[in-house]
Amino acid sequence: MATLFISDLHIDAGQPAVTGQFLSFLRGDAANAESLYILGDLFESWIGDDDADSAQTAVIEGLNTLTAGGVPCFVMQGNRDFLLGPRFCAMSGAHLLPDPLVLTLYGESVLVMHGDALCTDDRAYQRLRATVRDAGWQREFLALSVSRRRALAGAARSGSRAHTAAADQGITDVNAASVATALRTAGLSMLLHGHTHRPAVHRFEVDGRACTRIVLGDWHAQGSVLRWDEEGQELLALPRSGTPE
Ligand code: MN
Repeated sequence: MATLFISDLHIDAGQPAVTGQFLSFLRGDAANAESLYILGDLFESWIGDDDADSAQTAVIEGLNTLTAGGVPCFVMQGNRDFLLGPRFCAMSGAHLLPDPLVLTLYGESVLVMHGDALCTDDRAYQRLRATVRDAGWQREFLALSVSRRRALAGAARSGSRAHTAAADQGITDVNAASVATALRTAGLSMLLHGHTHRPAVHRFEVDGRACTRIVLGDWHAQGSVLRWDEEGQELLALPRSGTPE
């Protein structure tokens, strides 16, 4: 049996093919896994545990079926769904993970992150991240009405799209020195993250130590999963069947 890692599904009512593929994945590969880890941005937007739409509700029910069937599911908050909270956990049966997280599987330890904290060249984003991760800011935001929160989140997404479009490709990727610092601080040689939507396995050295950085892909046009068992890790693309080209 394998442990599966995915991220960046960006589940959205406007993208039914993504939701459909993910629900099939939950009934198939995930149901046969040892456990499932979702490393952030499961949802395109999450303004609180009291406002799930139809696509989000379908996904929560899919996760609940998975966890009720005995497959543990762990969810890390991403930059889109950093407000996932206790009610989401109760509804889905999933457990929230801290970011960063050190995980030891099959005798190997890995540093696990969503990945946005490594994009330190994007200073404007890091300032925003510090603000919205503040407990006081979150308390005030969650106290607003659903309609007010929706309006603010819509404006934030437009701003984020404009920022990403205008930003140099380089600054929206991870910073090499931040990657090295994270691995050095954790005393580890393997890092796993999502966020950048640039699936790859990178090999490099930190202080003369051979290191690996595995980047999960997004689910926009196909799925992306890291399969990890006693044999090691394998980063796989999951073709989307049954959808017209
Ligand atoms: Mn992200």
